[in-house]
Amino acid sequence: MNTFEFIRPEDAAAAVATAARSKTAQQGADVRFVAGGTTLLDLMKLNVETPARVLDINRLPLDKIEALPEGGLKIGATVRNSALAHYPAVQRDYAVLSQALLAGASPQLRNMATTAGNLLQRTRCMYFRDTAMPCNKREPGTGCPAIAGSNRTLAVLGTSEHCIATNPSDMCVAMAALEATIHVQGPKGSRSIAIADFHVLPGNTPNRETVLEPGDLVTHVTLPPPRSGSKQVYLKLRDRASYEFALASAAVVISIADGNVTRARIALGGVGTKPWRSPEAEAVLVGQAANEASFRKAAAAALKDAKPQSENAFKIELAKRCLTHALKMAAAG
Ligand SMILES: Cc1cc2nc3c(=O)[nH]c(=O)nc-3n(C[C@H](O)[C@H](O)[C@H](O)COP(=O)(O)OP(=O)(O)OC[C@H]3O[C@@H](n4cnc5c(N)ncnc54)[C@H](O)[C@@H]3O)c2cc1C
Ligand code: SF4
Repeated sequence: MNTFEFIRPEDAAAAVATAARSKTAQQGADVRFVAGGTTLLDLMKLNVETPARVLDINRLPLDKIEALPEGGLKIGATVRNSALAHYPAVQRDYAVLSQALLAGASPQLRNMATTAGNLLQRTRCMYFRDTAMPCNKREPGTGCPAIAGSNRTLAVLGTSEHCIATNPSDMCVAMAALEATIHVQGPKGSRSIAIADFHVLPGNTPNRETVLEPGDLVTHVTLPPPRSGSKQVYLKLRDRASYEFALASAAVVISIADGNVTRARIALGGVGTKPWRSPEAEAVLVGQAANEASFRKAAAAALKDAKPQSENAFKIELAKRCLTHALKMAAAG
């Protein structure tokens, strides 16, 4: 039996304290916040998530986008993906984020989906979503049938012998390239987490996906001040043109002067167990001519540690071509 409760603004601290009594903030949490519900309610219908209490945060004052005095942007946790994608300052200064959001899901889903919910969306691995199957992420120690089974859409970077599930978010890939910071209100106060440190690799605890602890409420995300003149592209490759998750995607934020790359921030989607920032590709690019030869070298560096499974080796070449093409688009833009 689940109970759904609306949290009033004056009860936010009490809601955090209530959620802090949950045994975990990860898979199997007995208290969950709900925002748009497009991930959580699906998983509850499938019995993959069975929280006893669901705390609705939509009445909290977390739905604003604000310019920061030092020049960045503050994005409230319940800002809808559609509102964020169409916000003029995002379209102008953080185009890679707008493009990534608009490449995700469908207009109807984007109207419901929120910033925090997108950060915390779950893998689309079919075994995870089927309680008749074993799955280490859903039930630790039961095994990973995907490794010898259906793994065409699963990860090639950051996998372990216990889980090869892909992080499905588009938004997070753009935020990784933009070096976003996640802000959390927990039972012991507030803290900030760089997006690179927010999601964790599966290792031998794939049930743990983020650094969140019981009671942690994501309140907002900040973006650093935009880089003037930076060129930004999000390119997503998938089985059909819309309403589909990435097989491979690339978020590119680069600066070019006199034909050379002076700064690069690169992240990949659809291929990693977390939104995949690639310092290797960035290091290869900086100081090099902004041409196809350099872009190919950067793509090779980004995928050098990729480990294919039985059905998804094609993703390695696909991701290389995706990143190379995204860099060409950015350089030409
Ligand atoms: C058919 C379909 C297609 C999709 N396609 C894509 C796609 O192509 N690309 C893509 O990126 N995404 C896609 N999505 C996923 C979609 O973007 C996510 O479902 C959505 O972003 C989740 O946001 P939400 O507000 O609905 O989250 P919810 O379902 O409300 O919550 C998700 C999780 O976040 C937690 N949570 C929510 N808010 C907070 C908070 N403030 N603090 C702490 N915890 C919180 C909840 O407890 C829950 O565990 C698709 C979804 C569907 C159903
Ligand atoms: S890949 Fe991860 S989510 Fe999928 S079955 Fe294996 S353990 Fe479960």
